[in-house]
Amino acid sequence: MIPVNQPLLAKNTQKYVSQCIETGWISSAGEFIQRFEHDFSRFLNVKHAITTTSGTTALHLALLSSGIGPDDAVFIPDLTMIAVPYAVLYTGASPVPVDVDPETYNIDPRKIREFINSHCRYDPKHKALIDNHTHKTIRAILPVHLYGHPCDMDSIQAIADEYGLLVIEDAAEAHGAMVFKEGDKEKGMYAGAIGDVGCFSFYANKIITTGEGGMVVTNSDETAAKARLYKDLAHSPEKRFLHTDLAFNYRMTNLQAAVGTAQMEDIDKFISIKRSMAKTYSLLLQDIQGLTLPTEKEWARSVYWMYAILVHEDFGLSRDEVMSDLKEKNIDTRSFFVPVHRQPVFQKFQEITPHSFPESTQLSQKGLYLPSGLALTSSQIQEVCQAIKDIQKNYE
Ligand SMILES: *Cc1c(COP(=O)(O)O)cnc(C)c1O
Repeated sequence: MIPVNQPLLAKNTQKYVSQCIETGWISSAGEFIQRFEHDFSRFLNVKHAITTTSGTTALHLALLSSGIGPDDAVFIPDLTMIAVPYAVLYTGASPVPVDVDPETYNIDPRKIREFINSHCRYDPKHKALIDNHTHKTIRAILPVHLYGHPCDMDSIQAIADEYGLLVIEDAAEAHGAMVFKEGDKEKGMYAGAIGDVGCFSFYANKIITTGEGGMVVTNSDETAAKARLYKDLAHSPEKRFLHTDLAFNYRMTNLQAAVGTAQMEDIDKFISIKRSMAKTYSLLLQDIQGLTLPTEKEWARSVYWMYAILVHEDFGLSRDEVMSDLKEKNIDTRSFFVPVHRQPVFQKFQEITPHSFPESTQLSQKGLYLPSGLALTSSQIQEVCQAIKDIQKNYE
């Protein structure tokens, strides 16, 4: 079986984990936590990096530390992983899904503006953008850099500036992805380090893994201090065991940070493996009728976390048929996410302001991703591409 993901553990992983065990430093008090946070913040060129237990808790912590609460609402992409709307709901705020861009699959800034113009009122005196349907104040945009391609951060930031919104990035799938300023490839900014706060996941299928784990990054001293407080039960700085805030235990262990520290030594290698795998896939699949291959905008560096394709009618078979035929050939794939507005869980918590989602609906029906793990070999990529060609030929 060629799996969708196989992690690649960095060279020094075993050595660093053994150090934790030999010294007995296995909890969240241990030197690898600082080392991992330091290496991560230096890589992204961002002031603060704060370890957490997962990408999901990183999102929750980022929202909490940004002051998002029950009277608020947050723009999110309609096509995304479920942890994104969950994290918004954990704070008591309401997620507001917005349709995505048909080329990058990321939240579409034009659709955010459309939503603001037709469903919101802006109170300039209080600098408050209010959703007419839920009466909540929209406080932030939460762009997700899906499958490793960065969002159009310039347009998102322009909207945020205009309406006084925060930008909280989900870069769980985009370690090392970049947005180039004014088209200058020397002036890149890393996904996750562009908005007010950024979130990462280190789950086993992500570009950097600690098994389970996450990180919040920010240049704001205030947000960073709050994140450190809320992830560790909010011990009062004046007196230990005295608490004035409700908080959480989102502490990563030193064992996980040891794995992360080793991974950071190889991050540039991992990114170039992902990019070269995508190049090979695109070369071998480019002439097949009825497929859309991933794009890379001229202002972006994608890290192709997963090699995501669309299967159209003129391929001859549906997306689901392609997936099951590949499964028969021992090749594992995954479909795109189910759109947020279609998730039954939301009917329990909140109504979604009625508007339409044609792009995310289409993408969720046509999209799948191919095996993209860091341990994938080029002969396995050739096998996958040949299998896709054979499936189409056999159907004709
Ligand atoms: C993986 C992922 C998360 C959640 O990360 P976990 O570490 O699994 O909790 C959040 N958002 C996106 C876009 C992801 O891909």
